[in-house]
Amino acid sequence: SDDYRLVSRKWKVNPTVIDFGDGLTVQEGDLTIMAGPCSIENEDQIEKTIQHLVANNVRFMRGGVFKPRSSPYSFRGLGLEGLKLFYDMCRAHGIKIVTEVMQVSQIAPMEPYTDVFQVGARNTQNFNLLDELGKVDKPVLLKRGISGTIDELLYSAEYIFSGGNEKLMLCERGIRTYETASRNTLDLNAIPILKEKTHLPVIVDPSHGIGIREYVEPMALAAIMAGADGIIYETHEKPEEAASDGAQTLSFSESERLIRKMQKTFELR
Ligand code: PEP
Ligand code: MN
Repeated sequence: SDDYRLVSRKWKVNPTVIDFGDGLTVQEGDLTIMAGPCSIENEDQIEKTIQHLVANNVRFMRGGVFKPRSSPYSFRGLGLEGLKLFYDMCRAHGIKIVTEVMQVSQIAPMEPYTDVFQVGARNTQNFNLLDELGKVDKPVLLKRGISGTIDELLYSAEYIFSGGNEKLMLCERGIRTYETASRNTLDLNAIPILKEKTHLPVIVDPSHGIGIREYVEPMALAAIMAGADGIIYETHEKPEEAASDGAQTLSFSESERLIRKMQKTFELR
């Protein structure tokens, strides 16, 4: 059969646990929080974000240095030099980094400076990239394609998993629908469906999912109640000055409030 199988709960009943060392894991039954800017901008921004995360016990910082932008004239990221700075500063504080890899040729140079390779929604079906990430000994956060079905996400996960890399997390980040009132439509339905179909952790990105700062919090809380194993969202000291995705980015005080509400919500589940 050409069905996906290795990522299926039928094949592996026990939920996948991704171990980062230092007592840090991503797994079912925990609530993993990943936060940070859309784009890494400069040393000061990284430092301020780290302070915010450390103060709130958040162990993963997200941030892109290779940015897939709709317009080629938009800020496209600091590249490998920015990644080295980002990684070194976070490592000094025990924070793991999540950052997007856009193409095969970036994997090797990024590897020494990356804790989690993010595959963005525009690359979910870049099968050459998925094949190569299957050979890497580093966790991967695989986002759902912009117009991708749940099954297509699982087939993409199967590429990586069957290639030998079992340190894999899935990410629901909203899909393109006919609705234009929000940036994307966060598919809350996907959460319980994925949790039934696969043993892989399911992380939800409410920032890209709705695209509107004020509504990131309710969507994050809804995702937790729907069974998400983690939330990844965008935060910045001055969202209105962010180099990308400012409109969906939380200030640090909004982020702090969200963290508290997520923890309370998780306890209710
Ligand atoms: C991002 O995480 O900033 C990003 C570009 O996400 P996505 O691939 O989901 O659009
Ligand atoms: Mn973004």
